[in-house]
Amino acid sequence: MLQKLLIANRGEIACRIIRTAKRLGIRTVAVYSDADRHAQHVQLADESVYLGPAPSAESYLVVDKVIQAARDTGADAIHPGYGFLSENEDFAEACSKHDIIFVGPPVSAIAAMGSKSAAKAIMSEADVPLVPGYHGSEQSIEKLQAEAQKIGFPVLLKAAYGGGGKGMRIVNQDSEFADALKSAKREAQASFGNDKMLVEKYLGNPRHVEIQVFCDQHGNAVYLAERDCSVQRRHQKVIEEAPAPAISQRTREAMGEAAIRAAQAIDYVGAGTVEFLLDSDSKFYFMEMNTRLQVEHPVTEMVTGQDLVEWQLLVASGETLPLAQDQIQVTGHAFEARIYAEDPEHEFLPSTGTLHVLRTPATDSHIRIDSGVIEGDEVSAYYDPMIAKLIVWGENRTIALRRLVQALHEYRVGGVKTNIDFLRRIANHQQFQRAELTTRFIEKYESDLF
Ligand code: ADP
Repeated sequence: MLQKLLIANRGEIACRIIRTAKRLGIRTVAVYSDADRHAQHVQLADESVYLGPAPSAESYLVVDKVIQAARDTGADAIHPGYGFLSENEDFAEACSKHDIIFVGPPVSAIAAMGSKSAAKAIMSEADVPLVPGYHGSEQSIEKLQAEAQKIGFPVLLKAAYGGGGKGMRIVNQDSEFADALKSAKREAQASFGNDKMLVEKYLGNPRHVEIQVFCDQHGNAVYLAERDCSVQRRHQKVIEEAPAPAISQRTREAMGEAAIRAAQAIDYVGAGTVEFLLDSDSKFYFMEMNTRLQVEHPVTEMVTGQDLVEWQLLVASGETLPLAQDQIQVTGHAFEARIYAEDPEHEFLPSTGTLHVLRTPATDSHIRIDSGVIEGDEVSAYYDPMIAKLIVWGENRTIALRRLVQALHEYRVGGVKTNIDFLRRIANHQQFQRAELTTRFIEKYESDLF
């Protein structure tokens, strides 16, 4: 087993990883920037190393500094969390160069999924269904437009190296194509340093359903059910749940098996998520594979009773997967609501300031709060303004949803604006209660939610 783990992250995910490591008897090292000197993750860890100034480009994202921190403290492994360096090939490579275990997949797997277009080419080979579209290398306007015409409007332009919904544009008709392409390319270049685009058929009312996969270093692979992350705002997830409601056992298994094929096609190791769009006729299409632990992994933990960070650490130390496919069972239903310091009345802009009041619902085996802040902490403009993830479990969806509504009702945050009322309106919405989910849910019921 690992002896000492450096967590190359901050906030709730760093705290969450530290807790599991400690339970397993692994020593922990936190890293921090100027803005995080007194942060919870620093206080929780056994040791901590200062990285540099608050901007992440000068601290959490500097490969050499993080590697040096691991070497200085004698850490034998690094967990990257999500975001930051978690899907950075150079970082994974640097770890292996210095004989530090990277808690994540092999560099080759990160590279293979790093570009949405290359990923689609691999998946098509592995017989994983794709959204009809063009993911080739020729990138002239003429070629992309001709492909869009072939696919048929509406189409979706996507940045090949994109993430977080950036560099995406829906194009409803041919005449809008050139302008949309230009602006998508501009945004992709600015955000990802690469403006390669792919074109996809834009599906009208799909659901976002993703499969949690796990592979060990000995060729074993399993899936731990699915999550429905359809409730999104600007292609960013707002509320997630597991299992996905109203899916037949057949579809569920077919998606699980396709996800395993996807993982095995790239010799995957560790925790990964294969994202699919699910159409109303139960057809599903591969979108991308995320080669890290996802923000929403706790809903899977709540319904399977497994600790996915523990699984990651076991796999990283060379052990076999704790369970075989037929031992993995889903019990009840779970939701996660992402609580953000943001202002719904002003375009959901981050709301920074001091958390003067932070009163949370009582946690028990049904209610879990993953957070990296306490009352009196500062929400700064430097990082993602997520305050916490509220996760609830119930014997079935109705009970779990009732608990979610109640817990949101009890949440009190003062000092910054939050999206809590917005989350409550979603949770209370009749169509949400009936599980009439699509990725356009928020857009469709906008007038009820704001
Ligand atoms: P990102 O990596 O930026 O998050 P994704 O490819 O994962 O981008 O897509 C994000 C979201 O955009 C999906 O969850 C879905 O809501 C929507 N989306 C993506 N592709 C399509 C498509 N072809 N048709 C309709 N919606 C799509």
